[in-house]
Amino acid sequence: MPQKYVEVATGLPVDRTFQYAVTGKETYPPTIGKRVLIPFRSMTRIGYIVKIEDEAVCEDPKPLVDVIDQSPVFGEDMINLAEWMKNYYYCSWGEALEAMIPGILKRGKSASVQRVVEPEIKVEPTEPFEPNKEQQEVLNEVNKCIDVSEHKVFLLHGITGSGKTEIYLQAMATALAKGKSGIVLVPEISLTPQTVERFMSRFGDKIAVFHSKMLDSAKFLEWTRIKEGKAKIVVGPRSAIFSPFEDLGLIVVDEEHEPSYKQDDVPRYHAREVAIKRARDKGIPVILGSATPSLESFHRAMKGEYRLVELTQRTEEKELPNVKLVDMRMEFETRTGRDVISRVMAEALKRDIRKKQQALIFLNRRGFSTFTSCPKCGYIMKCKKCDSPLVFHKEKEQLICHYCNFRAEPVEVCPACKGESLKYGGAGTQKVATEIKKILPEARVARMDSDTMTKRASHSKILGEFKNHEIDIIVGTQMIAKGLDFPKVTLVGVIAADANLNLPDFRSGERTFNLITQVGGRAGRGDLGGEVFVQTYTPEHYAIASAVKHNYHKFYDQEIESRRDLEFPPFVNLIKITMRGRKEEKVEKNIQKLYDKLSGRMPETKLLGPAPSPLYKLKGYYRWNIIVKTKDVVETVKNLHAAMNGFRKDGGVFLAVDVDPMSLG
Ligand code: ADP
Ligand code: ZN
Repeated sequence: MPQKYVEVATGLPVDRTFQYAVTGKETYPPTIGKRVLIPFRSMTRIGYIVKIEDEAVCEDPKPLVDVIDQSPVFGEDMINLAEWMKNYYYCSWGEALEAMIPGILKRGKSASVQRVVEPEIKVEPTEPFEPNKEQQEVLNEVNKCIDVSEHKVFLLHGITGSGKTEIYLQAMATALAKGKSGIVLVPEISLTPQTVERFMSRFGDKIAVFHSKMLDSAKFLEWTRIKEGKAKIVVGPRSAIFSPFEDLGLIVVDEEHEPSYKQDDVPRYHAREVAIKRARDKGIPVILGSATPSLESFHRAMKGEYRLVELTQRTEEKELPNVKLVDMRMEFETRTGRDVISRVMAEALKRDIRKKQQALIFLNRRGFSTFTSCPKCGYIMKCKKCDSPLVFHKEKEQLICHYCNFRAEPVEVCPACKGESLKYGGAGTQKVATEIKKILPEARVARMDSDTMTKRASHSKILGEFKNHEIDIIVGTQMIAKGLDFPKVTLVGVIAADANLNLPDFRSGERTFNLITQVGGRAGRGDLGGEVFVQTYTPEHYAIASAVKHNYHKFYDQEIESRRDLEFPPFVNLIKITMRGRKEEKVEKNIQKLYDKLSGRMPETKLLGPAPSPLYKLKGYYRWNIIVKTKDVVETVKNLHAAMNGFRKDGGVFLAVDVDPMSLG
C-alpha cells in the first residue's frame, strides 16, 4: 500500500492546514470529514481531515496519532462550505468547521450522552389551509424547484399576517413528500415561540428544534437525530444552517433582515448568506421571507438575481392597523411637564383597556432613566470603562452600565461641581410602566425586557398570562417586536420612534423602518381592529413617514439612493477592522502601522480611517477602526491574509476582522 497523507484543518486562527502521514495503525481508516488526533507542538490536538493526498508536501510529515470517527462528522459538502466561509469571512478552515458542530464533538471522543428529559410540549396537530391565489402562485414556483432540484433564491416579501409562514409550512410538506429534509431559520426561538409551535403542529416528531440557550448535550442529541435520519426538519437560529442533512430539499430564512443572523464572534458569518451558498451548492431553492427585506436582498431581487414574490393582502381580509403619528414637538409646546406618554396615546390606552382589550407598548431601552446629569455644570454620570452614560434602575436603586454591567450607588451630589440637584433624564421601560400605572391604576401591567427575563421560563410565563388576559398591557423592548399574535391587542404604542435615527450608522434608517413596521404588525390581528401610535420628533423623516403608510417600496427607493450616493452596501461590501487595547497610544500606533501596511496592497479597495470607533471606549478597551470598502470580498480577504502574514502587532493589542458588519461601532 502506498503511503498516504491527510491535510488537516484545526480550530487555530491560522490561515493554513497541516499535513500528516497515515500509518495504517489508526483505529479507523482516514477519510474526508473525520476527526483526527494530531501531534501539535508537544501536545495532542483535535483536527479535521479536509483532503487526502498521495504526495508529501513537506519533508517527512509527522504521523497521525489516531482517527476518532468511524463515520465522518462532516459531509464533503460541509467541508467545501467551510472552505468558502474561510475565503469570505476571514477565518480559518477549522474555525468554520467548528462552528458547524455541537461543542461535545470539538472536545474529543465522548459520543454517548445521557438523554436529557425535556419537558413535553403538547401541540395540537393542525391541517394546512387552502392557499389563497397569491400563496398558491408562490407555492407552485417553489414546489417546481423542489421537484426538479433547481436552485433559486425566492425573496418572499409580505406584510405581517399575509400568510408567509403558511407557505413555508406547505413548501416543507412538499419537500418531505419527496423524501427530502429542510431547514427553517428563525431569528431567536424564544422570541418566535408561535412559529415553532406551528411547525410542530404540522410535522410532529419529525421536527428538531435548536435554541441558543440549549445545553450542549441536548444539541448533540438533536444533531444525532438529524444524522440518523430521524428528524427531517430543523427549526433553529443561525447555527441551524449547519444541520448535517444529506438529502436537503429546501431552506427557509424567516425574517431574513434580522441582525441576529450575523454571528459577532469568529467565524463572523451571516446565516442568510451561508444558506444561499449551501442551497446553490446543493441545487435547491431557498426562501427568504420578510415584511421588511434587507436592502441587500431587495436590491438583488431588483437586479433579477433573486425571484421577488410578494403577498399584498393580509389573510382573512384583516386590515392593516391604522398608524397615527404623534409629533412630540407639538406635544411639549402645548403642555407642561415631560411625561413620556403623549395625551392622545394615554386617552386611547384608557379607552381600550376599559373595553377589556389589550396593548403592547414598545421602547427599546430598559431601566428607568437613561442618564443622570447635573443641571448646574452639565456633568453626566458615565461608566469609567465604557465612557457611556449610566442608566438608573429604580427597582435595584442602582446606576448600571448597559455595556459592561458596572454598577454604582446613585449619588446625591455632583462629583464635578458639588451641586446638589442631580436630575434623571431619558426614559426606559421601567419609567414607562410606572407612568402607565399612574394613567390607569386598575390596569395589570407587565414588563418584558432582559431585566425581567432572567429565568428561561419567565418569557413564556408572561406571554401565557397575557394570552389568558391576566395581563392587560406589556411594556417591553425588542423582545415584544416580533412574532406575537394576540387577537385582543388593539393598541400598539411606540414611545420613541427616532431613538435609532441619531446613531452614526448607515443602517439606522433601515432599523427604524423595520422596527415601526414590526411593532405595528402586532396590532389588529383579531376581529377588533387595531391602532398604532408612533411618537416621534422627526415625523417628516422618510423612514418614519413610509413606515406609517406601510410602504416598503417607497422607503426602499429613497434609502437605496442614499446608499448609492454614500457608497454603502449593497453597492459595496464593508470590512471592519477593529483594534483594541487598554493603552490608548499603543492602539493608535498599531492601527496606523496596520493602515500603512494595507494601503497600496489592496488596489481593489477604498480604505477609510483609521478612526476612533463610535464605541470608542468599551469595557476598558480603547477601540479604533479601519473600514474597507470593496466590490470583491474574496479578493480583498485574500490580500488581507497576505498583508497580515508579515504584520507584527504589539502585545496587549487585539485585532478583529468583520466582513459585512452589522454596525460600524
Ligand atoms: P405571516 O407569516 O406572513 O405573518 P401567517 O402565515 O402567520 O402570515 O398567516 C397569518 C394568519 O392567517 C395565520 O393565523 C394563519 O394561520 C392564517 N392563514 C394563512 N394562510 C391562510 C389561508 N390560505 N387561509 C386562511 N387562513 C390562513
Ligand atoms: Zn461599562
